[in-house]
Amino acid sequence: MTFENSLAFAQEQDKLDPLAHYRQQFHHPVINGQQVLYFTGNSLGLQPKSARDYINSELDEWAKWGVEGHFHGKNPWVSYHEILTPASAELVGANESEVVCMNSLTTNLHLLFVSFYQPDGKRFKIISEAKMFPSDRYLLETQVRHHGFDPDEAIIEIAPREGEFLLREQDILAAIEEHKDELALVFFGGVNYFTGQLFDMKTLTEAAHKAGALAGFDLAHAAGNVPLHLHDWNVDFAAWCSYKYLNGSAGNVAGIFVHDRHGNNTDIKRFGGWWGHDKERRFLMENNFQPMTGAEGWQISNAPVMGMAILKASLDIFAEAGMPRLRKKSLKLTAYLEYIFNQVVAMFPDYQLQIITPTEPEKRGCQLSIKLIGSDKKFFEALTQAGVIADFREPDVIRLSPTPLYNSFEDVYRFGETLRNLLSQSHH
Ligand SMILES: *Cc1c(COP(=O)(O)O)cnc(C)c1O
Repeated sequence: MTFENSLAFAQEQDKLDPLAHYRQQFHHPVINGQQVLYFTGNSLGLQPKSARDYINSELDEWAKWGVEGHFHGKNPWVSYHEILTPASAELVGANESEVVCMNSLTTNLHLLFVSFYQPDGKRFKIISEAKMFPSDRYLLETQVRHHGFDPDEAIIEIAPREGEFLLREQDILAAIEEHKDELALVFFGGVNYFTGQLFDMKTLTEAAHKAGALAGFDLAHAAGNVPLHLHDWNVDFAAWCSYKYLNGSAGNVAGIFVHDRHGNNTDIKRFGGWWGHDKERRFLMENNFQPMTGAEGWQISNAPVMGMAILKASLDIFAEAGMPRLRKKSLKLTAYLEYIFNQVVAMFPDYQLQIITPTEPEKRGCQLSIKLIGSDKKFFEALTQAGVIADFREPDVIRLSPTPLYNSFEDVYRFGETLRNLLSQSHH
């Protein structure tokens, strides 16, 4: 469609947007008396206004029942995690048996690696993206060391080619082919946190399997952002956090996916705890760990109900809005941001600001990463001062994520005006 850089156009798009009313269901930060333009749903999602009622309801149950709240009330705590499953499974394209909410992201990845990174003879290598999110990189380093390998030897990083910012799929596939006799695992972020590049998880999974390896994904930047079909793509395992696009609140409970083909195999090695034990026998306090089938068999501890209540509030909104409609809006809103940004930046040829995220809509979610060539963090600080909440990633990238649930076309237009003012001020 043809876009226009005008307030009237942006407002018209908001009027046409069937999801526009969700904006009012979130608290929008007011900083220094100013309602900010919030583009950091990729880092910490906004608070659903309904979250307070969901928590209060569990606080009331606790006050009323004490320990008996595990078995009474509307959502007994003993099975509280189960009420998060249908919406989570829908979000990632999984059977309900393949998904559970538990722990936090990096913790879950370690637990999943216990099961799915099982080096065997000379098959010990992991292929992943260069400049991974640090926590994932530390995960890989410590996992391979745990098995007695040297990270330099065991971790094969695929980097962008000289002078490029994005990974080429053909380079990843070539590396998988090259190392196929030594490969244990292909492990990528579904969407790269730095560039916003969305990987073709189906193709990577197929290639990993063909090489005799497994494929796992960190979906921190993908869950709630892009359509996922983990089951059909045959992905072996995945994990995501809930506080980015899923608006679950800082550090809240995360989610895992284990494909049924593994979940149904209770012989797979794992670290156990009572919440993963056969739930019919959980309270018999007997020896001999018997994991449940499905992703639930990877649970360890009892469910953190208060956090889960917030996540439930948010997942109910996702379930109602639905990923297909969210993605449809997201494609348009992100394209609009790209258009506005390029329009404004073209007015100031002295500045080199460049979007490094793929331009192809099917290769990205809603995040656009902007490289500040020859500029420094001061520009980002000025943007923040002017009421745009984006984020900065060293050394020189600003990330902006217009989320389809609570960002509007008007937000994007206003961002363009802010950017224009800023560039024209520093220009003179
Ligand atoms: C946000 C993020 C994390 C954070 O991990 P936590 O265990 O939740 O602190 C890890 N990996 C990626 C790729 C992320 O984007």
